[in-house]
Amino acid sequence: MIYSTALPLLTLFGLINLGVEAHTGCGGHEIGRRNPGGRLIERAPTDEESAASSLDVTYECTAYSYAPVLNIKDRYPTIWQAAYILPDDTEAQTLFASINATLNEKFPNIKPKGTSTGDFTGVAYNATDPDCWWTWHQCTTPNQSTGLPPDIISTPEPGTWGLGFDDGPNCSHNALYDFLRDQQQSATMFYIGSNVMDWPLQAMRALTDNHQVCVHTWSHEYMTSFTNEAAFAELYYTQKAIKEILGVTPLCWRPPYGDIDNRIRTIAAGLNMTSILWSDDTEDWRVNAPGSNVTAADVDNNYNAVIGKVSNGTYVNSGPVVLNHELNNYTMTVFMNHYADIKKAFTYVVPIAAAYNTTHPYLESNITFPTFSQYVAGQQNVTTSPSTGTDSSSSTSPSGTSSASSSASSSSSSSDSKSAAGRGVVAGTTGLVLALLGAGLALLV
Ligand SMILES: [Zn+2]
Repeated sequence: MIYSTALPLLTLFGLINLGVEAHTGCGGHEIGRRNPGGRLIERAPTDEESAASSLDVTYECTAYSYAPVLNIKDRYPTIWQAAYILPDDTEAQTLFASINATLNEKFPNIKPKGTSTGDFTGVAYNATDPDCWWTWHQCTTPNQSTGLPPDIISTPEPGTWGLGFDDGPNCSHNALYDFLRDQQQSATMFYIGSNVMDWPLQAMRALTDNHQVCVHTWSHEYMTSFTNEAAFAELYYTQKAIKEILGVTPLCWRPPYGDIDNRIRTIAAGLNMTSILWSDDTEDWRVNAPGSNVTAADVDNNYNAVIGKVSNGTYVNSGPVVLNHELNNYTMTVFMNHYADIKKAFTYVVPIAAAYNTTHPYLESNITFPTFSQYVAGQQNVTTSPSTGTDSSSSTSPSGTSSASSSASSSSSSSDSKSAAGRGVVAGTTGLVLALLGAGLALLV
């Protein structure tokens, strides 16, 4: 079963059910709870190499102190809580003010929806879907008048599986990352900011192993529920933490639960981040989640359904972007169990960056990813050249996002027509007419 068959009924009540059910699974909160109260627990310092060498889950998931995190944590929101702009963070305040001005001009009528845990009780919404709200009916193509690019939901390469994992870094991900390394397989990792602060050495392994890192928000809650400022902070501080700890500034993100609308897209675009959703959900994250009746057999069927679509011609001109997780041992193991079948059925399995010929997925222009043709030819290494001193990455700014509104983009330097050029850039003004109904009015379906 893919996501499109798991949609809520076309009723408000169906939508509520989706939210409640969704929140219980995919989240990484169970990892966060290992640090009670969101405080960092100290133990003897370690290093990336030793952190990556163990397959002992107890060792892997013992909280540790890491100087680069301890040195910066006072300049960040509390981990595993909804993000906010720190009172003395003038850089964040200035950037937010700029983005907020765009929001007020283009989308003054899009208000926060529901709660941060996905309860949409009482939310009245126009059935014509004026906000292109994914949680409503999986809209991923904003009206052209908004100037917003479509979300990425597939790969432009025939027979090509776009590989990514959500909710990391999971403290116990060495077995999965070892597997990917041994298979010479790179992926796109959607990291939660609080997890990066908790498990920085695990996060660093993504770079060492040539994976692409994207943002998956700070606290992993429903983004459309947040105010403009809180939604900005969820993305900004995750992007900033990854820059300060890993040294790269991601220009891509995925909304938890897919919960995105044009207001949230605009905030992400203001931070030069491309929005990446998916075409197929394995529903791995629902297994053993409270309130979920999704079984391991269902997930096997979901994997096999995507694989089966190769033979019926679905992927003659493109490929799927599939939702997998490094949320827990089950979600990682089930992927490894299906990997051989995936490789056999699909022509290629590639990270999102390679699928789109995005050779510069980070703000740092001296870091170069392989093109699609290079990647599938076995040239999978990410290369780092000395900074020229003129590009934005040479800045000594601790945030790495001070120039996020400048010319840098997530697009490729390739001239390939399938490149994601232009994505992630706020486009011009809009003639969009929003038609939100007032609260309390009947829902039109
Ligand atoms: Zn997630």
